Amino acid sequence: MKWRGGRQSANIDDRTGRSSGSGGKLVAGGGIGTVIIAVLFFLLSGGDIGSLPDVLGGSNQAANYQTENVATDAYTEEKEFSAVVFGHLEDYWQDVFQERQEAYQDPTLVLFTDSVQSACGYATSQVGPFYCPADEHVYLDLSFANELASKYGASGDFAMAYVIAHEVGHHVQNELGITQQLEKIRQQVSDTEYNEYSVRLELQADYLAGTFAKYLAGETYQGQPILEAGDIEEAITAANAIGDDTLQKEYQGYVVPDSFTHGTSAQRVAWFNRGYQYGDLSHGDTFKENNLDLTNQ
Ligand SMILES: [Zn+2]
Repeated sequence: MKWRGGRQSANIDDRTGRSSGSGGKLVAGGGIGTVIIAVLFFLLSGGDIGSLPDVLGGSNQAANYQTENVATDAYTEEKEFSAVVFGHLEDYWQDVFQERQEAYQDPTLVLFTDSVQSACGYATSQVGPFYCPADEHVYLDLSFANELASKYGASGDFAMAYVIAHEVGHHVQNELGITQQLEKIRQQVSDTEYNEYSVRLELQADYLAGTFAKYLAGETYQGQPILEAGDIEEAITAANAIGDDTLQKEYQGYVVPDSFTHGTSAQRVAWFNRGYQYGDLSHGDTFKENNLDLTNQ
């Protein structure tokens, strides 16, 4: 995905505690520069490489600077990328709701590390990215991108774009009143029955992520298409990798269909693809497909 230089959303709430980290970056940048110049000077003036640590004032310090510098740059990249994706999602959903002549409130993207307090409760990074309808925030630990790549084999920037689009899909469901309808149903049916609805809610968020991908496929930045070859495949790989059946098989060694809450890998891919194909809201009734009717409850 072409994202560098794109508009970054202003609705980013950075709670990683590293937002003031320009200090870290500047220190590291200066440190590394100084170290390299010192090493070059030392070697050019015929110094023995074995005694380098003395020149640098401690090799450990130099190593730390380097690690910190690399980590900070990767973090900045991830943050900017997420903010650009979030910006595109704002543009897209504002347009869609404007066409429907309905108001749309932009969500906020909260970036956190390890754990976070939301209006829906306390959560750790282990739960993965999530949306909280009570405060209308999407919560994301940027390290999830690494997890997607290393643990789930879903690498590439558009895998992460799909995940963010899925979470914003939950916000759209909230704006459309679907989340509220489901809350009512939750109080009327058993947990097992409700699980079916929950799966359908998740698949619909995948569908909505697909419509966003379709929109983005028609957009350009500085005359270049925003989507690059392989982007859609990256999203599909991610949808496939984080299906409940795949995750359960991996972690438990067996599958318990009743406890599915996100849908199988095949379902997730199918609904994302359907959204990508139609690019509208009217083909995204995941509930009806399973003979679940939200209006009759
Ligand atoms: Zn979801």
